[in-house]
Order: sequence, then structure tokens, then C-alpha cells
Amino acid sequence: MGGLEGWTPPLEETATAVRACVRCRLHLGRTLAVPGEGPPDADIVLIGEAPGRQEDRTGRPFVGAAGKVLDRSLAAAGLSRPDVYITNVVKCRPPANRPPKADEVQACRPYLLAELRAIQPKLLVTLGAHALHGLVGPRPRFADARGTLIAFEGIRLLPTYHPAAVLYNRRLDSALTKDLQKVAELVREDRARVPRSGRLNARSPGPSRGATRSGRRPR
Ligand code: SF4
Repeated sequence: MGGLEGWTPPLEETATAVRACVRCRLHLGRTLAVPGEGPPDADIVLIGEAPGRQEDRTGRPFVGAAGKVLDRSLAAAGLSRPDVYITNVVKCRPPANRPPKADEVQACRPYLLAELRAIQPKLLVTLGAHALHGLVGPRPRFADARGTLIAFEGIRLLPTYHPAAVLYNRRLDSALTKDLQKVAELVREDRARVPRSGRLNARSPGPSRGATRSGRRPR
């Protein structure tokens, strides 16, 4: 799935590129592109599948009904928005909220990878099956991986439900909260063990946080 080497501008530069992007057909129907949002040194990055209607109108991730579910689940896990960086596999709303297509995911991937490289989180959380498969490919199956720790490019990844799924099936509420509690606990354990400043990309010491490792934009 590519790896974590490459274009790594500061997050603001990635956001600017996203807002002007015409790399795939999704730019044709968007009102606003939706770059990720959150602290540039977040320990946790949440990854959804794509912006919805409210996100498309506001240019901000997870501000609609699903965002409210997410906020509630984060709070129940002892977390809040300022603790996490939230982004999506694709940054523009697909028509009628359909799942993003493979070529759209691929076109948008440089922005997601640039966000991850800039932030260097301790933990990734994918929200829903499309986010999981958009990030790691078709395996593992969501049903097998949900709530378990797997890895993406050396970063621990915990797949969980999309908050929108909870809107349709309230029985998933406790599972989403339980998964986020597990994430919060893992990060607490990490903080007790490893100072934040000592956790650079293990494969490459690289420049200081936030520096641009490559000035090239994705083509
Ligand atoms: S979805 Fe991503 S690649 Fe496609 S136009 Fe939007 S920002 Fe560009």
C-alpha cells in the first residue's frame, strides 16, 4: 500500500493543497473539500471514509450527526476532540454519500499519508469498513479485525465502527465506546513508557517534527 516515505509538508500546506485539489472526479460535486483537523502532534488519528453533507458544507470533518455520536463516544472513553486528529480516506464528499471508489481512494492517498507522516501518531483508528480497506487494502476483513490491534506501516491500528453505523444500530454504541476506551488506555500506557519526543519514525530519523522532508506535491 505504498509506505510512509515521501511528501511530508506541514499539515497546513496539505490542507491548502486539499482545498484546491482536482485530482479525482469528487472535486466536481463538492462544496468544500475537508482536510483533517486536530493537533499536529496528536497521539491518535481517527480515519473515516469520506465527508458527508454537513462536512461538505462546512469544510470540517465529523460535524454532522455522526460527529455527535463520535464526540459522545470519545467522552465516554475519556477523550475529546482536542486529543485526536480526525481525517478521512477521501477529502471530498462522494455523490449521495456512496462509498469512495478505488481510484478516488488512490488519488487522495498522498494527502492521508502526508498527514500521517507529519503527525506520527501512536495509534490509528479506522472508522468503518470502508476506512479500514481504504487504508490497508482488502485484508483483513472488517468483521475479523474490528476491535483488535493490527498494524499499518509500523503504527498500531485499531479498526472500529463508523459512528454513523451507531445511528442505525444502537447496539453498536457500546462496542464503539469500548474500542475507543482501549485506544485511550494504550496511549496512556505508551505515555508512561515513552516520552512523546522520543518517538520518531523508526525507519528514518528524519528532520524535526513539522519540517518538510520532501517539497514535492503529489501528482
Ligand atoms: S477526494 Fe481527494 S483526490 Fe479527490 S478531489 Fe478531493 S482532495 Fe482531491
